[in-house]
Amino acid sequence: MSHLIIVGGGISGLSAAYYAQQAAPHLKITLLEADSRLGGKVRTVAEDGFVLEGGPDAVVRYKPWAVALMKALGLEAQMVGTLPTKPSALIHDGHQAQPIPPGLQMVIPGDLWAMVLSPLLSPFGKARAALDLAIARGPAGDEPFGAFIQRRLGKQVWERLVAPLSGGIYGGDPYALSTLAAFPQLKTLEQSHGSLIRGAMQQHRERGSREAGQLFASLSGGLGNWVEVLQQRVSGSGLEIRLNTGVERLERLREGWRVHAREGVLEADAIVLTTPAPSTARLLQNLHPEAAAALQNIPYGSSATVSLAFPKAKLPARVGHGMLIAANSGFGVRGFTWTDQKWSGRAPQDYALVRAYFSDTGLDEHSLTQQALTDLGRLWGQIPTPQRTWTFRWQEGLPQYTVGHLERVTQALQAETLPGLFLAGAAYHGVGLPEVVRMGQETALRALAFLSGTAAPSADEGATING
Ligand SMILES: Cc1cc2nc3c(=O)[nH]c(=O)nc-3n(C[C@H](O)[C@H](O)[C@H](O)COP(=O)(O)OP(=O)(O)OC[C@H]3O[C@@H](n4cnc5c(N)ncnc54)[C@H](O)[C@@H]3O)c2cc1C
Repeated sequence: MSHLIIVGGGISGLSAAYYAQQAAPHLKITLLEADSRLGGKVRTVAEDGFVLEGGPDAVVRYKPWAVALMKALGLEAQMVGTLPTKPSALIHDGHQAQPIPPGLQMVIPGDLWAMVLSPLLSPFGKARAALDLAIARGPAGDEPFGAFIQRRLGKQVWERLVAPLSGGIYGGDPYALSTLAAFPQLKTLEQSHGSLIRGAMQQHRERGSREAGQLFASLSGGLGNWVEVLQQRVSGSGLEIRLNTGVERLERLREGWRVHAREGVLEADAIVLTTPAPSTARLLQNLHPEAAAALQNIPYGSSATVSLAFPKAKLPARVGHGMLIAANSGFGVRGFTWTDQKWSGRAPQDYALVRAYFSDTGLDEHSLTQQALTDLGRLWGQIPTPQRTWTFRWQEGLPQYTVGHLERVTQALQAETLPGLFLAGAAYHGVGLPEVVRMGQETALRALAFLSGTAAPSADEGATING
């Protein structure tokens, strides 16, 4: 019987395991995870009536793969949307906070009238943004995301709206992101509609809005429930999960592979690596140095979240789901989520739950909490005293898809020319959970095709980046 080893038990590894098992119920599969728990960046803690998300807190609904997997697992009844609110969030530029215009699609205004009425932009900024409806299409090739948005919508929309929003997704410096790798759908809008605003308006009609709670989904008990159910579903019947098993070295045999972990050695006919790029690079160093070099050149930003619980009565009124903070505005946080106003059931009734999001910070847990409180004090005029705090740090938080990312990925995926070796995960074609599920699924099917001796599309051919 063939043996498939999946390395990494984040959502990409768990998705690969689930879809491999669905397609080949009798295949022997082993999932190796270095940590003592599954889920990777997906980490939910439920304590005393609080539900904390240490990493992701939502999946977008309009990219179908994550929602489809949740439904296939029977989780539909637990799926929840964000609470309706208007405005959905504010943006603070260091001096004042303004509401983001309603109807935003990802980071682009999808409601022209709302943009015209928005206090976020000056009359000049609005007029410049509206030029997007008239100016010619630009090149289809790649360009820095900041340059792309400024070319279409002007500097003000970039600085006041898109930079804080995209910085809130990726961390790091959003200007330097590769448009084709990080926001390919916006290039597609430009090419297909001749205008970002026109394309976003159509999406707004089709997809609904943040304000109505239609864009994002989670599970009532948090995304950790997804991991638990995935774990239960794949465990047993030929699939073994080994926690605390960090893979240290891969050895190529005449046929198949030997996988070395400190905890032991296993042999496999095919391997799917779903580890973050730095780990994958180390494993490929001697097997495919060019692929390893490309992986090493994918930069990662660190992320951290601090959740703080306050007695609700002691806080001033909070607007919408949260507050995004523009870069260089003197704040340490990238943004705040008012968790109890974004999702129902995340805090006991009399409590407010605030989540601060940090990127690229070297602060320790105590300093992160202090920084979050200082920044809240700046917003509210007084530093409140939290009753509980929870801190989650991600040293290798999010891969930064900077210009040149697609070339690095093509080079990294050359490792798949090694027979029986496959790569998936957030390092390649999308950091969001839907894309990570899609890559897990596609890679599992490529591995099964290899094991059964039939051809399957390569990772680069098969990819539809970021939806
Ligand atoms: C703070 C934060 C907020 C986010 N918010 C959102 C959001 O709201 N919505 C969204 O869609 N996405 C969000 N993301 C992105 C998303 O969470 C990640 O891109 C996704 O979870 C990555 O999944 P993965 O399986 O590719 O990698 P990971 O989750 O990183 O999993 C990789 C696994 O491999 C294991 N591993 C590493 N090396 C080895 C080894 N040598 N041997 C064995 N195992 C190993 C690790 O322990 C880990 O469990 C967020 C990310 C962060 C950090």
